[in-house]
Amino acid sequence: MTTITNHMPTAELQALDAAHHMHPFSTNASLAEDGVRVITRAKGAYLFDSEGEKILDAMAGLWCVNIGYGREELPEVAARQMRELPYYNTFFKTTHVPGIALAAKLAELAPGDLNHVFFAGGGSEANDTNLRMVRTYWAEKGQPDKNIIISRENAYHGSTLGASSLGGMSGMHAQGGVVPNIHHIGQPNWWAEGSNMSPEEFGLARARELEEAILELGEDRVAAFIAEPVQGAGGVIVAPDTYWPEIQRICDKYEILLIADEVICGFGRTGNWFGSQTVGITPHIMTIAKGLSSGYAPIGGSIVCDEVAEVISKAEFNHGYTYSGHPVAAAVALENLRILEEENILDHVRDVAAPHLKKKWEALADHPLVGEARIVGMMASIALTPDKANRAKFASEPGTIGYICREHCFANNLIMRHVGDRMIISPPLVMTPADIDEMFVRIHKSLDEAHAEIIEKGLMKAAS
Ligand SMILES: *Cc1c(COP(=O)(O)O)cnc(C)c1O
Repeated sequence: MTTITNHMPTAELQALDAAHHMHPFSTNASLAEDGVRVITRAKGAYLFDSEGEKILDAMAGLWCVNIGYGREELPEVAARQMRELPYYNTFFKTTHVPGIALAAKLAELAPGDLNHVFFAGGGSEANDTNLRMVRTYWAEKGQPDKNIIISRENAYHGSTLGASSLGGMSGMHAQGGVVPNIHHIGQPNWWAEGSNMSPEEFGLARARELEEAILELGEDRVAAFIAEPVQGAGGVIVAPDTYWPEIQRICDKYEILLIADEVICGFGRTGNWFGSQTVGITPHIMTIAKGLSSGYAPIGGSIVCDEVAEVISKAEFNHGYTYSGHPVAAAVALENLRILEEENILDHVRDVAAPHLKKKWEALADHPLVGEARIVGMMASIALTPDKANRAKFASEPGTIGYICREHCFANNLIMRHVGDRMIISPPLVMTPADIDEMFVRIHKSLDEAHAEIIEKGLMKAAS
């Protein structure tokens, strides 16, 4: 067998990749033609590729590398744990110390009576757990028909069949179908869908779609409502201020379980441990993954309140993953939480990084290609528009303009994603003001170049 290493020529690595490696969320044929970028190592907020380019990662991987790349403590903990106990399960009357310690730590960090943790390999698996858990909860309480889960259009809850059914991505539903009894309401995306309402009016109207859905489906049929405190993959959609208090009121009134998908918002991203604290809601279950381990090991889970955990504990819960609470991943996650806590990274976000980012980010709204600029903590988005006064969409196929802008970012060694014609960032929480300033040099260059290309191609045109 040939050894494939960092030292092979890029073209050879690309050819092998194209021949054998199927990429997620990609059109693999065109990817193979274009040639993928080979990432070889990373440090702080920067990636390095096989051509020696230094790339600023404004997405923290996939929203996950909260403490930044290259921390030595995590591989050390992983190696120690792998030597001591590389694997054991927690299915059959057994447990292990990393699993105990991480569950106890999460119970301490999570607000209120969210005191119980069910582990998974990532966020998708955790949402599959939640789907089964909330239905089991109501069945155990003698209401097996209370099994409909309400979610939102354009939500992202993961890629397994269960999690993608909970999500509101139509392109995913179209490939492989959906789990029954999941209902979707509108998203609180004022820029794109607010018509001539004020953001406050629109926030209330979108929250009240939950109440309308409950009344239409029947209070005795609805088990839970699931939502991200800030929609991430949907385009960093920050709800108007009126939205969440109304959602909380409705969940309380109709006794609907509230599931907060904290996979992105958790672990400091919004300036608090959890996004639920930032938007002021009290969920019964929180989905966690990503920042839980800063991406250094794959792990996720559900943090569950006393009442739900107690009811579930009386039944045999027919559910679990081989790698639920994997000891190496759990040990790595614990070390990540220790770093977040002892280095006061949340204070850094609140007092230093997020205010610096916010000032510069909101000023992007003055760019001729940009409409609104939205930001919460260290996640932010801009809507690209040909005509900001009218919040106009482009005449071109949705995503065309965002893609052009993304390509300029990529060429300028900046990882910034596009979702349709929105540009989004979610950088490592440990970014310094100097890192942020460097990021904006690249953002401005990319936006200016994209703007010039769009004008030149005659694409700076509003849809009629
Ligand atoms: C990424 C994500 C998931 C899925 O997590 P995986 O670890 O990819 O399975 C679920 N919910 C949200 C909000 C996410 O951003």
